[in-house]
Amino acid sequence: MADKLNAVKGMNDILPPESARWEALEQTVRELMGRYAYRNIRTPIVEPTALFVRGTGQTTDIVEKEMYSFEDRLNGEQLTLRPENTPGVARAAIEHNLTYDGGKRLWYTGPMFRHERPQRGRYRQFYQLGAEALGFSGPEVDAELMLLAHDLFQTLGLRNIRVELNSLGVPAERQAHRAALITHFRQNADLLDADAQRRLESNPLRILDTKNPAMQPLVEAAPRLLDYLGDASRRHLEVVQSLLTACGVAWTINPRLVRGLDYYSHTVFEFITSELGAQGTLCGGGRYDGLFEVLGGKPTPAVGWGMGMERVLELLKEQAGVTALPVPDAYAVIPDAVALAHAMPVLQHLRAAGVSVQMHAGTLDGFGSFKSQFKKADASGAANALIFGADELARGEVTVKALREGGTQTSRLLSEVATWATTLQSSAPYI
Ligand code: ATP
Ligand code: MG
Repeated sequence: MADKLNAVKGMNDILPPESARWEALEQTVRELMGRYAYRNIRTPIVEPTALFVRGTGQTTDIVEKEMYSFEDRLNGEQLTLRPENTPGVARAAIEHNLTYDGGKRLWYTGPMFRHERPQRGRYRQFYQLGAEALGFSGPEVDAELMLLAHDLFQTLGLRNIRVELNSLGVPAERQAHRAALITHFRQNADLLDADAQRRLESNPLRILDTKNPAMQPLVEAAPRLLDYLGDASRRHLEVVQSLLTACGVAWTINPRLVRGLDYYSHTVFEFITSELGAQGTLCGGGRYDGLFEVLGGKPTPAVGWGMGMERVLELLKEQAGVTALPVPDAYAVIPDAVALAHAMPVLQHLRAAGVSVQMHAGTLDGFGSFKSQFKKADASGAANALIFGADELARGEVTVKALREGGTQTSRLLSEVATWATTLQSSAPYI
């Protein structure tokens, strides 16, 4: 036998029946996005490496150590498996001049790739759901996006998710704060860990994002960017706060929330749960008014968020317990090849009428005993068995046997499939 091949470490197969939970989540998302008038966008999984170096930022964790980058063997292009999709969406918007006639509201889902240490809620291939509003400068769109994420969690029935909010102001405000920050950290240079020492000059704001507990007191005592905001930045934040409050969303200010990416300005936020251990951030986002210019586009205000779908599903499992999984409406029992030729067209009619049917599968030599077929019918979870026996077929009929409720049997005319098909159809094929 040949050697067995396995999935790449940190990259997961999503198998049935688990995949049904993903489909249900995606369905909920699609409906909700439609209600907020956000439109779906699908961009490539592979992008030029420069897109993330410039967009995500040279001194971010993602670009410094997490990207799957490679050279195209055939033409030498430097490419990267996308670690996030905001730069890809911005690139597409610039390339196709999407905002020429006004703002655009977009959403996406798909796999992202980061070379991190795999653990619960942290994988090397993971799925993000994201929403981006391009071409809007007003704080009401920041609030709308946060309401959208909040609404999704509500719709899914999730609880105990807190909303943390901060403002990163505009570049001039960040410059002033940066100087104060460097002074503060220099005065305490002996307390800085290696990561922080490296970032002191390149990106001191990022030090506030540290996960090292030993650094916390120093970070707590650091100058707050909030205290460096001018009037306009302060007003922007206040409008977001008051709209959230008006819509019944509780929030708290976290002055140390800086987010891991370089492109943010004004509003930044996270939706966090304490129920998933260290991987508790479900959704993170903010305003990124500077990104389009960095990528060679016209100045375009924009705001968005990304959400980790594995973490959302994990929390759903924690809080909602086991969910019902899809089963077929009917299982077709097939005695022999003659019956098969009659049965298959009927199954096609049933499917066209919206009935979910699982057909018994045999070999070229036969289909097995009724007993073994009924065992499989039971295991499939179907509510009904359709029995295409020789006697029934001779009368132009099929027997419908209820597998769950007392085993009642009914004869149905094959010529009238359309009239009884709907009696087989369950109202909720999915969770
Ligand atoms: P963290 O601090 O957990 O590393 P992040 O700041 O790197 O998160 P973002 O880049 O903001 O995360 O991505 C948005 C969301 O995507 C996160 O809030 C999280 O839910 C999810 N996410 C990020 N990295 C991973 C990963 N490696 N595996 C699974 N989900 C992830
Ligand atoms: Mg990260």
